[in-house]
Amino acid sequence: MPELPEVETVARGLAAVWEGRTLVRVECRRPDLRRPLPPDFAARLTGRRVDRVGRRAKYLLVALDDGTTMLGHLGMSGRMVISRGRNEPPGRHDHVEFVTDQGISVTYCDPRRFGLLDLCPAAELSGHPLLAGLGPEPLADGFSAAVLQDALAGRGSPVKVALLDQTVVAGLGNIYVSESLFRAGILPTRPAGSLRPAEIARLVPAIRAVLDEAIAAGGSSLKDHVRPDGELGYFQHSFAVYDRAGQSCPGCTCDIGDGGIRRIVQAGRSTFFCAKKQR
Ligand SMILES: [Zn+2]
Repeated sequence: MPELPEVETVARGLAAVWEGRTLVRVECRRPDLRRPLPPDFAARLTGRRVDRVGRRAKYLLVALDDGTTMLGHLGMSGRMVISRGRNEPPGRHDHVEFVTDQGISVTYCDPRRFGLLDLCPAAELSGHPLLAGLGPEPLADGFSAAVLQDALAGRGSPVKVALLDQTVVAGLGNIYVSESLFRAGILPTRPAGSLRPAEIARLVPAIRAVLDEAIAAGGSSLKDHVRPDGELGYFQHSFAVYDRAGQSCPGCTCDIGDGGIRRIVQAGRSTFFCAKKQR
């Protein structure tokens, strides 16, 4: 499932082939994804120039020259695949295709169809039902120790669960919350409201660092963004604790006699942590 760094990588890959280009052909091969596509979706995009491709939380934001923004979410399994001209017939999960004036094709492929594409006037974007309640962007200046402290104050839920709450901080998912708490040395089971100011002051840069490193890894996967299999957003990345139960965490002896990295389930999701390094 794509998380913030994957979506950022997709946004950067799309920006490279879309910004300043005109969409000369848009084809929808079904009327809906998770929800119906907007009325006249293809017609409203055709002939439009893309001014900017950005991201808010896990949403792609594609600003068009008529003041409309296309909002996209990749759901569980959505992918944007770039190719230079199409050589073979579309696959059964290739739901929407966008072709630019340079002949570059971007196909939205989504086997499980939990993704969505919507259109919204740019001026109304902050009030869009999917974006209105989102907390601060973790990589923006508005996210600080003071802001996070306020958001966690009084919360009895485990800090792992609180950080998955998109109103606390936007775009964090299961993988990067585990990695951030490890980096900050904080036990995921601690009540969110019990974190001390010094711990929150460690957590904020830890969140930024794990996201920045993952985005950098994704960026290096983009060097060759127009390939026969030009799929954006999924890349090899190594984790310190995520999905590494039983192994030792970096620079630690937790695998000797201690059972190594532990896996627990919180709010139905796996959490990974080192009981030696996280308190
Ligand atoms: Zn360890």
